[in-house]
Amino acid sequence: MVGDTIFTKIIRRELPADIVYEDADTVAFLDIHPNNPGHTLVIPRKPFRNIFDVDDDTLAAVWRTVRKVARAVRDATDAEGLNIDTNNEAVAGQIIFHFHVHIIPRFPHDGYQRWKGKSYTDSAAAAHVAERIRQALE
Ligand code: 5GP
Repeated sequence: MVGDTIFTKIIRRELPADIVYEDADTVAFLDIHPNNPGHTLVIPRKPFRNIFDVDDDTLAAVWRTVRKVARAVRDATDAEGLNIDTNNEAVAGQIIFHFHVHIIPRFPHDGYQRWKGKSYTDSAAAAHVAERIRQALE
């Protein structure tokens, strides 16, 4: 787990936030710089850093809240769909080191940019990385 961040201060009400939902394990509030109106963050009350250290029970609680809040965000904003993202470590764009899931409402032609997929050089390259991942899972 990590120490204090902006998000622990939001949980303790030491910083203002537009909280939309909370329960014993999780809190959901509006992102201060939304990709689209209604962009919401779901966080556990316990300050895990990210996907690599969050415990199973907390992860389950966060994802239960994500689904509950996702439906509400969709209905409240009339979004046609949502992106649900989690950034893990700085290289992936994580700037707040308290595990969180982004719920981003999506509308046609809203300008939200996702990355363009690359190609493997050949099937052997894909097979190689797949084998490395299978070994890492053992
Ligand atoms: P990350 O890049 O770490 O996945 O996302 C962190 C998110 O937290 C960003 O989208 C950013 O806009 C949001 N954020 C940063 N500071 C604050 C804050 O003080 N209040 C709220 N509500 N959101 C914040």
